Amino acid sequence: MTRYNTRRDKLRRELKRAGMDSILVTNFTNVTYLTGFTGDDSYLLITPTDEVIVSDSRYSQQLEEECPELDVVIRTSAMPMMASLAKLAKKTGIHNMAVESQSLTLSLFDQLEAALAGVTLARSSGLVEGLREIKDAHEIQQIRDAIDLAQRTFAVIRASLRPEQTEKEVAYAIENQIRLFGGSGCSFPPIVAVGPRAALPHAHPTGHQVKESGFVLIDWGAVGNLYISDLTRVLVTGKVPAKLERIYNVVLKAQLAAIKKIKPGAIMKDVDAAARSVITKAGYGKRFGHSLGHGIGLEVHEGPGLAPRQERPLKAGMVVTVEPGIYLPNWGGVRIEDDILVTRDGHEVLSSVPKQFSDCFTI
Ligand code: ZN
Ligand code: ZN
Repeated sequence: MTRYNTRRDKLRRELKRAGMDSILVTNFTNVTYLTGFTGDDSYLLITPTDEVIVSDSRYSQQLEEECPELDVVIRTSAMPMMASLAKLAKKTGIHNMAVESQSLTLSLFDQLEAALAGVTLARSSGLVEGLREIKDAHEIQQIRDAIDLAQRTFAVIRASLRPEQTEKEVAYAIENQIRLFGGSGCSFPPIVAVGPRAALPHAHPTGHQVKESGFVLIDWGAVGNLYISDLTRVLVTGKVPAKLERIYNVVLKAQLAAIKKIKPGAIMKDVDAAARSVITKAGYGKRFGHSLGHGIGLEVHEGPGLAPRQERPLKAGMVVTVEPGIYLPNWGGVRIEDDILVTRDGHEVLSSVPKQFSDCFTI
């Protein structure tokens, strides 16, 4: 029994609970999660007794290597995906089939409905994503590896930071270093924002140079094997703006207050509120516009969300970011982000880049 069997069986139980007997998985990340297959353009059909992946000849060898236990239908160019699925539906004798409404386009839904006469299609949402929220030991190890890659990269970038480097050059150096360390790349285009540009939570790197301000915000992450990391730190690179230390310490206090709350059963919005109330009390409530954090795993933004409206409880095995920030237009911004595992009796902060204000100085 592989970990993928376990995941597929869990999905079958979810399907049963939802009153459905089969599902067509069309989100490629979900296909990877359920099979270990890392290619694209392939759909997975799961019925009570069958699990079949429909792919094409580009992937036959990869499928044999990555998921030898699965039944595989290699369609030819003369056999479009929909025709293959229709044949498969007939063969497996399914009557109803869940489809993933978050990934299936309206056009594909129409084609599927036309091709699968006699099969009732049911729109489902978040079935596999819900399973992905809880990480198993193998996934947690892969996240640890991705964090380790990101942290070693940061140490190199930090030690080699030069005043004349541009945001773009630093972003490139991060990507390059992750690859030199053997990683697959960045988990998202790094955010490198000098001074006032850090007021944009999702700033794109530009030609602005590090020396143009006294600090730079870096939000970066690595892809190790398949799983990702996501971290943010601020580095002080020059004269410290008077406000920076004050704002930094508010954000740090907010982050630590939220992390302290993390344990199984804690309500997600309460974790968000723990950070938000610190920032609000300091007078910056309106300057923290985004939610506190998000799940990480195969994707950089996945469930669960630590946000003001999230009423669900945290569960052991979830891995979330905690990333409060304060953003002041024309001045800059501070965000501190770490990756946290919900353990059986509390939490473990998986990332460990030092984050006291005195740790931010590069010289
Ligand atoms: Zn981030
Ligand atoms: Zn993040």
